[in-house]
Amino acid sequence: MKIHAIETGRVRVTERWREGEGDGLRRLLNAWFDKATTGWLPVHVWVIEHPEGLIVVDTGIPADANRPRYFPPFMPLIQRAAVFDIAPEEEIGPQMRALGLEPRDVRWVVMTHLHQDHDGGLHHFPSAEVLVSRDEWSFACGLRGRMNGYLNQRWPRGFAPTPVDFEDGPLGPFPRHASLTRAGDVTLVPTPGHSPGHLSVLLEEGEPTIMFAGDTSYTEDHLLRMVADGIGTDLEAEIETHRRILAHAAQRPTVYLPSHDPDSAGRLAHRITLDPHGTAAARVGRLGKVA
Ligand SMILES: [Zn+2]
Repeated sequence: MKIHAIETGRVRVTERWREGEGDGLRRLLNAWFDKATTGWLPVHVWVIEHPEGLIVVDTGIPADANRPRYFPPFMPLIQRAAVFDIAPEEEIGPQMRALGLEPRDVRWVVMTHLHQDHDGGLHHFPSAEVLVSRDEWSFACGLRGRMNGYLNQRWPRGFAPTPVDFEDGPLGPFPRHASLTRAGDVTLVPTPGHSPGHLSVLLEEGEPTIMFAGDTSYTEDHLLRMVADGIGTDLEAEIETHRRILAHAAQRPTVYLPSHDPDSAGRLAHRITLDPHGTAAARVGRLGKVA
């Protein structure tokens, strides 16, 4: 199965956004006001050429994300702490066409969550069924959604995703899952913490499992150290999600692909699996060998 890693622009956040410090409101303030920033991080979208139809995981950012008025005036702190860089031809639609894939042919768009750097390319997929977990959908809608940083006023007119309820029972360490494909090789699992209804996508194409992990952590290293980010809605849930992902990787070889990890595309290309007991040094060595 062909899987494409597509970088739809880049984002830079504060260090305390990517790696949180403190509790409660203090944690959020640390993320917003930290002076240190990360380098440019990729905003990945994943396209799976599945026999049952094209599957897209997340949709990236839109080309106007670098404009000053991208965030509404009541969100100056987010505007300050997260900066984007993208050219029009880097949006997901043009990049898919460059690969010979037509966005209108996409059957499913699976959203890991509805933060603006994941839902900014929804307008490219008017004919696809869009899937969002029910918890994420109800949290992101309306005024409450806007107060929590979701840019729901930018969703395509009449946006009505299919809510995912995870009715299919346990899957390894995950308490519930939802099967997407008839073949049963693509499943959605709840991975809350970064956002209340965050989900991840597991693809079984033989060994290993490919896990499209959204923002469960910013990098594989943050997962291994079980460090939650600074803007997540539920710190304990995020750490519990880390535990479950590591337990899954201990049971089945898993290629772990967070959206903003600069090494995700390389790990996908070379099917480098997560070592749940690995150290940073060992992983750098393994990545170095294939580079
Ligand atoms: Zn996010």
